[in-house]
Amino acid sequence: MRCRVCRQPAVVEVRRHNAGFCPGCFVAHCRNQVERAIKEHRMIAPGERVLVAVSGGKDSLALWDLLLQLGYDVDGLYIGLGIKGYSEPSLDYARRFADERDIRLVEVDLPRDFGYDVRSGAVADHRAPCSACGLSKRHIFDRAALEGGYDVVATGHNLDDEAAVLLGNVLRWDLAYMARQRPVLPGGEGFPRKVKPLVRLAERETAAYCVLRGIDYQVEECPMSVGNRHLGYKDALNAIEERSPGTKAAFYSGFLERGAELVADVGEQSREGLHACTNCGAPTTAQGQCAFCRLVERAAGEHRRRLPVSG
Ligand code: SF4
Ligand code: ZN
Repeated sequence: MRCRVCRQPAVVEVRRHNAGFCPGCFVAHCRNQVERAIKEHRMIAPGERVLVAVSGGKDSLALWDLLLQLGYDVDGLYIGLGIKGYSEPSLDYARRFADERDIRLVEVDLPRDFGYDVRSGAVADHRAPCSACGLSKRHIFDRAALEGGYDVVATGHNLDDEAAVLLGNVLRWDLAYMARQRPVLPGGEGFPRKVKPLVRLAERETAAYCVLRGIDYQVEECPMSVGNRHLGYKDALNAIEERSPGTKAAFYSGFLERGAELVADVGEQSREGLHACTNCGAPTTAQGQCAFCRLVERAAGEHRRRLPVSG
């Protein structure tokens, strides 16, 4: 197979575009896709400061690299989840990426800064680990962005992630989640804007991008993801994609073009009735403390109980 652009031998095949690319043209293709997503959805305006949520995995490091290449003013934020054997190497990959480029990585560590880890949070709040993790990450991204004076938080959700979440939402007809599932969530009082510039790139494309750009990343999946519903939806979509390349992208882009506006007003209602958390001031639908502050209180107690007794 030859590169679609320059006719040199291709090293990456993108079946949904029915195209192959040589290394240089593939990297340029990824950059174009991200640039297009940013423009199409008005994600980042010139001069805005961007904070990228960095996990040490391929998507977030590819995103950071792509935004730097496109000339954005962008720092990284790593949140240590306290997952033994996984969080430490993930942080190393993120640090190495930042050190090699002499760029800023903001580090937050759940056990050190808030006194709990994802597992304790899940037990204390009777949630699944991913639910405690998601709640913690959302709150910490918002707070770090506002305190650091960033205009936008960018996350590495790719086409496979978004299509899988959409499939889950459709299977449950969860209209409120569907309404929020856009590549841009506007900012508001206490919320930075949130953007997903990788929505036009599939997971294997971000992996190929990292390999071609010489970016080392955490290859292991988070151990908490085992049995996650989301992974089942990805497998189902991959099986369909294998038989009909392009279905995943058509499913997701069709939602953005025709489905999203049908559920848009459900999303409007869900931001109504927000108060300031009595502890941290973050916007919340709860009276009193926000869900994150309540999680911290309960989880820190649980975390202390689980620590080995020394001495
Ligand atoms: Fe967090 Fe779950 Fe993702 Fe692990 S798999 S990083 S616990 S959301
Ligand atoms: Zn709070």
